[in-house]
Amino acid sequence: MSNWDKEVDILVVGSGAGGLLAGLVGAHNRADVLIVEKAELWGGTSATSGGGIWIPGSDVARAAGFEDNLDDAFTYLRGLSADNVPDENIRAYVDNAAPMLRWVMANTPVQFMAFPYPDYHAENPGGSPQGYRTHLPLPINGKPLGNEIRSLRFASPAASLFGYLNWHFSETSELLYRSKGWIKNLVVNMSRYWLDLPFRLTSRKDRRLTLGNALTGGLRMALDKQDVPLWLKTPLIDLVREGSRVTGAVVEKDGKPYRIGVRKGVVLAAGGFDKNQTMRNANAPLYPTAQYSGGVTSNTGDSIRAGEAIGARTLNLQSAWAAPVFYVPGEDRGRLCTIERALPGCIMVNQSGKRYLNEAASYHIVGQQMARRDAEHNDANPSWMIFDQEYRHKFPMGPLYPLMPTFLHSKGVRSILKKGRSIEELAGQIGVDPATLSATMTRFNTHAAKGEDPEFHRGEAAYDKMYGDFRHGPNPCLRPIDKGPFYAIPIYPGDIGTNGGLLTNAKAQVLDDAGEPIVGLYAVGNNAASAMGESYPGAGVTIGPAMTSAYVAARHMTGSN
Ligand code: FAD
Repeated sequence: MSNWDKEVDILVVGSGAGGLLAGLVGAHNRADVLIVEKAELWGGTSATSGGGIWIPGSDVARAAGFEDNLDDAFTYLRGLSADNVPDENIRAYVDNAAPMLRWVMANTPVQFMAFPYPDYHAENPGGSPQGYRTHLPLPINGKPLGNEIRSLRFASPAASLFGYLNWHFSETSELLYRSKGWIKNLVVNMSRYWLDLPFRLTSRKDRRLTLGNALTGGLRMALDKQDVPLWLKTPLIDLVREGSRVTGAVVEKDGKPYRIGVRKGVVLAAGGFDKNQTMRNANAPLYPTAQYSGGVTSNTGDSIRAGEAIGARTLNLQSAWAAPVFYVPGEDRGRLCTIERALPGCIMVNQSGKRYLNEAASYHIVGQQMARRDAEHNDANPSWMIFDQEYRHKFPMGPLYPLMPTFLHSKGVRSILKKGRSIEELAGQIGVDPATLSATMTRFNTHAAKGEDPEFHRGEAAYDKMYGDFRHGPNPCLRPIDKGPFYAIPIYPGDIGTNGGLLTNAKAQVLDDAGEPIVGLYAVGNNAASAMGESYPGAGVTIGPAMTSAYVAARHMTGSN
């Protein structure tokens, strides 16, 4: 078949971290690359994210004094992943992650630090309680992007201040604990932002890029140097398969079908079906609400369906990167809750006013437990975060900022915040039995005063402690909740994207029903079935594998491995 409107070596579908890196590695290896993006903004959920990548055995971690062992990393992932995930996919990730990181640091402006962020199941065989497998991008100056920065997605409100001021992870604890110099640093950052004239007069975008913005922004800068085009508002519609090979794709350009032929292949990097309610209903009933997903609205599983239409096999479509989320009415996605649950002075209860989990566990564990609880008992969607005045004064709670009076928050935020002078009054506000909630608080407070949580063991694991208040003892995650007035805010079983998708092999090639590669078709990131199965081993296990498979796929397509 011919009559293409355009021909390229490699067509990349989607402009998240996986897509951008696949395009970049392809272009470096002298391929003619085109990236198409459905939305009017580029960067995908990757741009809105923390930008953390989980990389075992990196040079960066070694330089920080952490000597990793790839066999340990494999053992750790294998133990957590699903049985139906092939060993070779996990091994491919473990073996290629560090070379990928080295390549990115050598060929793009994005630089990383290894972070002492404990693995989420650090106590399992091969786990790392000291961390240093999670790597975070360092802030970069976004000015070289020129006008492209205007269409880079904003960081999530959960990963920025006031929804526009970008900050780095290490600045979080400074602000969180208002440690010495925090006001000065905040003023410096705000001034830098407001004095970015004349850009400030035409855009709200912070040109100091951090976290996911630094990652995707830096990759785009490197792509610009290679003159790789990125077409916005150009969704993939169909793939073209001739025999055992994908020879091209049909996209929509300016409202019309546009046929692109490929000499080497197509990389599908178009995310999961985060915002496709129908696909969720059919495949992932445990994570039913598209609205609560932290994924971007354009991630609707188009390329998973396009793959299926030409005979590609899928795996683990029932799975998602589960997470507890806050939801502010009117917003298009849920806000990931990471830190708050571990801080002393709050608990989570179900609609009967009872605790049912260790709040401080990783967001994935908590998200899964919430989803399962609700599926079984229909009483956890939403659950309630309960906290007292001391917590309200000291720490953020989702969209609620400490020190900032409630009336200065948006109408949407005010509409979800409930307040009572006593626990009983608060219970009435949230429709929970006052006696049950009161009994829950009394039991919790009695043990919390001793730094204990015999029911759910909050604050015992390395991961719990990391987000606890290190200044508070004996348990950084626990104190009695007894300084009224009391507050409640709903928290939902959500996710930060789905993670089942097209089944791929160790080279990121998409497989058909017979288990054979469809020549010229690759899938990476949430577009592919994750090598993690239904688990979440550590911070950065979604973008780390997305970038690693992108690196592997582009090298395979260009004959480098
Ligand atoms: P995306 O980055 O979502 O990119 C997919 C792109 O494809 C989108 O731009 C989309 O518009 C486009 N697209 C969709 N359909 C089409 C189509 N038909 N044609 C063309 N383009 C299409 N994970 C980590 O590993 N580390 C973290 O630190 C981290 N922090 C997070 C923080 C928050 C607040 C959230 C919400 C998530 C976080 N995650 C993190 C999860 C992570 O962001 C996602 O799992 C990951 O970015 C998915 O990458 P991707 O490349 O598969 O998809």
